[in-house]
Amino acid sequence: MNSFATSFIPTIRTLMGPGPSDVDPRILTALSRPTIGHLDPQFIQLMDEIKSLLQYAFQTKNQLTMPVSAPGSAGMEACFANLVEPGDKVIVCQNGVFGGRMKENVLRCGGIPIMVEDQWGKPTDLNKLEHTLNNHSDAKIVAFVHAETSTGVKNDAQAICHLAKKFNCLTLVDAVTSLGGCELSVDEWQIDAIYSGTQKCLSCVPGLSPVSFSQLAIDAITSRKTPVQSWFLDMELVMGYWGKGAKRAYHHTAPVNSLYALHEALIILQNEGLETAWQRHQQMHVKLREGLQALGLEFVVEEKYRLPQLNMVRIPEGIDDAQVRQTLLSEFNLEIGAGLGELAGKVWRIGLMGYGCNSKNVNYCISAIKSVLS
Ligand SMILES: *Cc1c(COP(=O)(O)O)cnc(C)c1O
Repeated sequence: MNSFATSFIPTIRTLMGPGPSDVDPRILTALSRPTIGHLDPQFIQLMDEIKSLLQYAFQTKNQLTMPVSAPGSAGMEACFANLVEPGDKVIVCQNGVFGGRMKENVLRCGGIPIMVEDQWGKPTDLNKLEHTLNNHSDAKIVAFVHAETSTGVKNDAQAICHLAKKFNCLTLVDAVTSLGGCELSVDEWQIDAIYSGTQKCLSCVPGLSPVSFSQLAIDAITSRKTPVQSWFLDMELVMGYWGKGAKRAYHHTAPVNSLYALHEALIILQNEGLETAWQRHQQMHVKLREGLQALGLEFVVEEKYRLPQLNMVRIPEGIDDAQVRQTLLSEFNLEIGAGLGELAGKVWRIGLMGYGCNSKNVNYCISAIKSVLS
């Protein structure tokens, strides 16, 4: 007796967690268009357009701007693996989960992480960073997370980069949750290496990581004493694929259909306009905050450094965290995020990202939580 598996048809959910976020149907349509060869002239034209759309999204003229063919974590690895050589000192600002992953990356590249640690839910303390820079004048890089998704804190990227530059350090930024959701300006803020993800405020399918490297970063990469340990993420090799126009050389097979989807996501962002998208995230955050506060839910992160796209609220006394999230999922098809690390069981994280950042979702989320809590 044979039993055949059947097609997988997921239930339609409303995704209001830390990512992935709801994908715009236009993007899903783009994803299902016919696959063409990755060296087809039409595809090469698409790659060039994706590059310039990403330059707009990142606000940069950096030539080396492209999506890594793997999720945000691979963009992180790409930045560290290319810039960190054995023995290099890297100052890592940590105030949540993702700063911890940066430290791990530095260690695995043979670098020496110098930690600037702040409490989860608080931003990186600039005085502490300056003190650390003074004590480690030989540091090569300052690395930090712009939008710390584990807590909903926005670190002051512009100020951190400004400080790092005073000490002649390269700046390495995690913008996985910030790209498209709040102000970000790679050239103006002097960011040297940056990585993002497609499944947060770009509302695209998961699995790609837009990155961008400044000329200073490229100089550091081309003058390395040791080859980049990762063959797949070696930017000099990837540049030959993404950077050479019609002369591009085979490196790996680009995820063709996922790139159709990213292209569509970036067109949607460009049509809306970056500033308008940032304002929409802020407006929806205010609307969500008012509704949640009316239910008696308190925000953990202080308003002046709170991310609009990731809202962390304290779970009220006596409420069963897992059961509430389970009921939201099973009865309302609504996904919200749990707390991570030391915040597990204490908070919920409600995402307002990209396509899903709209009044309808905000109202739905508030009424669903109200109904489950009562
Ligand atoms: C989601 C996220 C990542 C990891 O991205 P993946 O696509 O899951 O690999 C890294 N940093 C931050 C801040 C994130 O929110």
